[in-house]
Amino acid sequence: MRAVSETPPSAPSGKPEDHAPNFVDELVQAEIDAGRTRLVTRFPPEPNGYLHIGHAKSIVTNFSLARKLPGAHCNLRFDDTNPAKEETEFVESIQEDVRWLGFDWGEHCYFASDYFQQLYDMAERLIREGKAYVDSQSLDDIREGRGSFHQPGTESPFRGRSVDENLDLFRRMRAGEFDEGAHVLRAKIDMASKDLKLRDPVMYRILKVAHHRTGTAWSIYPMYDWAHGQSDAIEGVTHSICTLEFQNHRGLYEWFHEQLGFQDPPRQIEFARLNLTYTVLSKRSLQKLVAAGHVSGWDDPRMPTVAGLRRRGVSPASIRAFCERIGVSKRDSFVDVTLLEHAIREDLNATSPRLMGVLRPLRVVIENYPEDAEETFELALNPGDDAAGSRAVPFCREVFVDREDFMEVPAPKFWRIFPGNEVRLRGACLLTVTRVIKDDAGEVTELRATWDPESRGGNAPDGRKVKGTVHWVSARHAVPAEVRLYDRLFTEENPLSDEERDLVEFLNPDSLEVLSGCMLEPAVREFGPLSRLQLERVGYFCVDAASEDGGLVLNRTIALKDSWAKVAAKR
Ligand code: ATP
Ligand code: MG
Repeated sequence: MRAVSETPPSAPSGKPEDHAPNFVDELVQAEIDAGRTRLVTRFPPEPNGYLHIGHAKSIVTNFSLARKLPGAHCNLRFDDTNPAKEETEFVESIQEDVRWLGFDWGEHCYFASDYFQQLYDMAERLIREGKAYVDSQSLDDIREGRGSFHQPGTESPFRGRSVDENLDLFRRMRAGEFDEGAHVLRAKIDMASKDLKLRDPVMYRILKVAHHRTGTAWSIYPMYDWAHGQSDAIEGVTHSICTLEFQNHRGLYEWFHEQLGFQDPPRQIEFARLNLTYTVLSKRSLQKLVAAGHVSGWDDPRMPTVAGLRRRGVSPASIRAFCERIGVSKRDSFVDVTLLEHAIREDLNATSPRLMGVLRPLRVVIENYPEDAEETFELALNPGDDAAGSRAVPFCREVFVDREDFMEVPAPKFWRIFPGNEVRLRGACLLTVTRVIKDDAGEVTELRATWDPESRGGNAPDGRKVKGTVHWVSARHAVPAEVRLYDRLFTEENPLSDEERDLVEFLNPDSLEVLSGCMLEPAVREFGPLSRLQLERVGYFCVDAASEDGGLVLNRTIALKDSWAKVAAKR
């Protein structure tokens, strides 16, 4: 059976994938030209869900950037500071997905939780230097006291606590002496700052929750802004690339680094997150779909997760090509999902082996073909790629064709199968249907036909014109399969745009159609789980990850052509 092997980020030819230079590249290149010799980036997922294609954009950006200088690298860092929502399952899936996308973090896999002690020590240092204090107000009062854009904040009545008292309380917070919500640690910056993030942000809160890595060792957990920037600095990250919504965190990011005196502190650079039409890219929303059973799991082939795309039959090369093509910009926008679909088709068209399969089988008995005889035709696995070789396609007296290729009374311009019309069975022969067999209900159950034995291979012996070509499968050799046809999960371009309505109201009721009793040519047995292939004239498919011998399941990755474009044009 064939094993699935993926092309690494630079093709074996050494030819780099399309890469449109972007502003981050240019900015880093300018620093390199000015003498920068150290370059470290990081991809910092929170392990609270599976990665989606938006994360892929961040992965491609960060790992590609780290190829700009010898010795440069990209860290995989789990931002695991919120024990309530995080799980080992997600850590493992994230590692698998980054690797599958073709990127290697080498020795550089880290966890923010590994820095809990260092972060704690740094916090004590800020307390000793009078730059942090324990606040005993309720979280509501703290929020209230922060003021607004137009109104300065008010100082907490606990802001003046002595260093000793702060140290004592902070140590007892850590020791688990207090209940959740009793105290927090806050940076002491400026309650009147124009930058709201600098109005004494919370650094630690008490959480009596076990952590998936540190267990019950900690009763306090660092807040994102405190943990993230210091983790970057501890790792020697030089460029901390994040999405635009963190722009207003940058002042605080830099404030902490200044107070702690890091040399060559990381520089935060914001870029626009990926938004895709007809798609939701938010772990929280995706989690909801999984939890409510609207999809079969995080790796449901309709999900925009890396695991879902993989199971759907999308190659990592096409995801990388898509990410490179959309580039990195400073302005938030929506990318048309047809661009992703185009990258998927382009890759599959070039790489996927061709087979024949009939989704809605209709039996054709070739009455002038001997009962016990059979023969095989050699057909190319990929007509565009000689190296792909060929497969032997068996043929006998009975074949299946697709019901959609037959009309008893042909519509105008229908050149496929109808009584009396000679058609080509692709790669096999010319055939004419002579009789239509129906059941009592008038349903067509079988066709009778004759073939031209001189037309072996599918060529007309005298050059006569045959307009229609259809795909087929030998009935005696056919491999039955279940085929799952997937379509877009949502019917709305932006399913999150309507705050009044729940996301699930925009689910496409026809996003999954399951066909059983489909018939495939026997060469399909060569293809193991996750193999990608094209069923000629039908679409691109992949053998389902959980598909077993005897219970073959194919997932449709994508149709051959974009049928939505036509539908949209008609509207
Ligand atoms: P979500 O909103 O889906 O939960 P997140 O930003 O909370 O995403 P993280 O695990 O914190 O998820 O993200 C890890 C990295 O991936 C961050 O650097 C984040 O900026 C980046 N990222 C997340 N979503 C996107 C996106 N849609 N486009 C580009 N980068 C993204
Ligand atoms: Mg997040």
